[in-house]
Amino acid sequence: MIKKALRAADEQQEEVVRAVFRAAGLLWQCKGRDCRFDNTAAQELCERCGRQRNGRRVTDQVPPSAHPDDFENLRAELKEYFAHVGRDLPDAVTFQLDFHKRWRTDDATLHFGSRAEVYDFEDPDVDLALSDLGRADDRGETLRVALYR
Ligand SMILES: [Zn+2]
Repeated sequence: MIKKALRAADEQQEEVVRAVFRAAGLLWQCKGRDCRFDNTAAQELCERCGRQRNGRRVTDQVPPSAHPDDFENLRAELKEYFAHVGRDLPDAVTFQLDFHKRWRTDDATLHFGSRAEVYDFEDPDVDLALSDLGRADDRGETLRVALYR
């Protein structure tokens, strides 16, 4: 619907259409000064540059159910893991919950700028560090670990 409206608009109308969609919360504009891309509401990170809505680089999301020390431990294990396997260090890693509200080692997302890659960790240390976070209190919790800090 949004794309259709934008296609139908001429150049002058387009800015107005965009402004209306932004005001209605259907689009959010990236605050990155060099980006300003209009993302759809479902998009959590900017599609073009990978930044968060506030224009900042992708950052930690510590689930309320997890102890901060265990979170820091997971960050350390992840850094070690990527150094060990000799892969480029992603900006951040996002993990999913399974049916039992435990953090999964598979189906994780690696964030490299705007590029996201689905990844399965097969590593006992990462597995253990994830288990140490314990179960989430509810399915809405999110876990993202920034690795550049
Ligand atoms: Zn952006």
